[in-house]
Amino acid sequence: MAKPSRRGVCLVISAPSGAGKSTIAQALREADPTIFTSISVTTRAPRPGEEEGVHYYFRDMPTFRRMAEAGELLEWAEVFGRGYGTPRAPLEAALAAGRDVILDIDWQGHRLMRQAMADDVVGLFVLPPSLEELEARLRGRKTDGDAEIASRMKAAMGEMSHWPEFDYVLVNDDLDKAVAEARSVLVASRLARARRKDLEALWPVAG
Ligand code: 5GP
Repeated sequence: MAKPSRRGVCLVISAPSGAGKSTIAQALREADPTIFTSISVTTRAPRPGEEEGVHYYFRDMPTFRRMAEAGELLEWAEVFGRGYGTPRAPLEAALAAGRDVILDIDWQGHRLMRQAMADDVVGLFVLPPSLEELEARLRGRKTDGDAEIASRMKAAMGEMSHWPEFDYVLVNDDLDKAVAEARSVLVASRLARARRKDLEALWPVAG
């Protein structure tokens, strides 16, 4: 008998910058190397240390628009005036092969992903413990001036106002706890009845 195969879960993690989303996503990947990381396309310039094909695919705006028009992006949005999008083909291949996928995208991307792949998407929102703590974390990066911090706080407030649209919400007041909680969300999502079609060929199903 063929090995039962399940379809992967598409875990979309959103948060305001400074809430610890990337660190949580990274910890999930390190604990489970079979997890597929979707690498987005962006029109923004690479930051120091960022690599093509590792952090993003860096493309100019005409190329980005061409990809969007050709349907090569599952979802795309403008964030801070820059284009960001999720390449379709690698994500669909990973889910079909039974690999879970983590998407580190914003609330607009989450909404569009739900429209594009409703059965596959699980949304997880990460909130900071408080506004004061969020501001302290943004200041702690020491890369931005006051005006930049104020504009990032405003963007954070906008992003955070979408938390009720997500399936799961965690408050990152302790990183180890937050990672354990995010992992629990992923495991529970894998086991959800609606995603266990692989078992229907193996186990009796009452009519
Ligand atoms: P950054 O420029 O700091 O890497 O990312 C800025 C914002 O864009 C973050 O909120 C990030 O989650 C979001 N983002 C990154 N990739 C994508 C994507 O493919 N689609 C969407 N909708 N948002 C993205």
